Amino acid sequence: MTNDPIKTAVVTGGASGIGQECARQLREDGWRVAVWDRAGNGDDPAVDVADYASVAAAARRLDGVDLLVNAAGIAGGREPVAEKDPAEWAQVLAVNLTGTFHCAHALYPHLKARRGVVVNIASVAGITMMKGRAHYAVSKAGVATLTRSLANEWAADGIRVLAVAPGYVKTQMIERSIEAGELDEGKLAAMHPLNRLASPQEIAAAMIALAKPPFLFMTGSVVLIDGGLTLGK
Ligand code: NAD
Repeated sequence: MTNDPIKTAVVTGGASGIGQECARQLREDGWRVAVWDRAGNGDDPAVDVADYASVAAAARRLDGVDLLVNAAGIAGGREPVAEKDPAEWAQVLAVNLTGTFHCAHALYPHLKARRGVVVNIASVAGITMMKGRAHYAVSKAGVATLTRSLANEWAADGIRVLAVAPGYVKTQMIERSIEAGELDEGKLAAMHPLNRLASPQEIAAAMIALAKPPFLFMTGSVVLIDGGLTLGK
C-alpha cells in the first residue's frame, strides 16, 4: 500500500454483517470506502457482484484502490446434493466464487496502481464437510484456491491476496436460519471448542489487520478464525 494519507477501500457485501463492519471500522480509521452491495446504501449505487457489467461499471467510478474486501456472499439452502435445485447451485457459485473473481479482475489495474491488498472470505465450510452444504462448501473452497492463485500471480505487482476462513459468525446470514428454526444457536456454539459464535466485529478487525503492517510478508494465506471448530472434539 502507498503512503497516501487517505486510502481507498472497496467493500463488497458492505450493507450487512461482516462487510458492513469492515466498512465501519475502515471509515473510523479515516479510509474512503465504496460499498458494493446488491442492497445498495445511501452513498453508493447497488452493485451485483455476480454480474460482471455491474462490477465493471462500479470499477470505472474509481481510480486507485488500496484494499478490496470481498465480503458479499449468500448461504443457499440446506438440501443434499441429490435434491439441490441446479439454479440455486449456480447462483451460490456465481455470487460467492465468481463474484470474488469479478471484483478482483475489474479492480486489478486500480490495485496495481497502489500495490494494494485483497482480503477474501472463505469459510470452515470449505474445509470441514457439512451435510446439505455442498454448494456453499465448493464455493468457499474455490475462494481459498482463488486466493492462492491470485497471490501467486499478483505478487510481482506488489499486490497481496489473503483470505479468512471464519467459523459461524452472528450475522443476518445465520440469524435468519436461527429464527426460521433451521439452526439452533446453542448447537452451533457447541460446534466451536470456544463454545460461542464469532461477532462480525472480530472477523472484520482481523481482516483489516491483515491488510496493514506488520503483516506485509503475508500473502496467499487462508487464515482460520474459527473458535477451534476445525480442531475436532
Ligand atoms: P450477511 O447476509 O449479513 O451479508 C452479506 C451481504 O452480501 C449482504 O449485504 C448482501 O446484500 C450482500 N450480497 C449478497 N449477494 C450479493 C451480490 N450478488 N452482489 C452484491 N452484494 C451481495 O452475511 P455475512 O455473514 O456478513 O457474510 C459475509 C461473508 O462471510 C459471506 O461471504 C459469507 O459467506 C461469509 N461467511 C459468513 C459466515 C457466517 O457464519 N455468517 C461464516 C463464514 C463465512
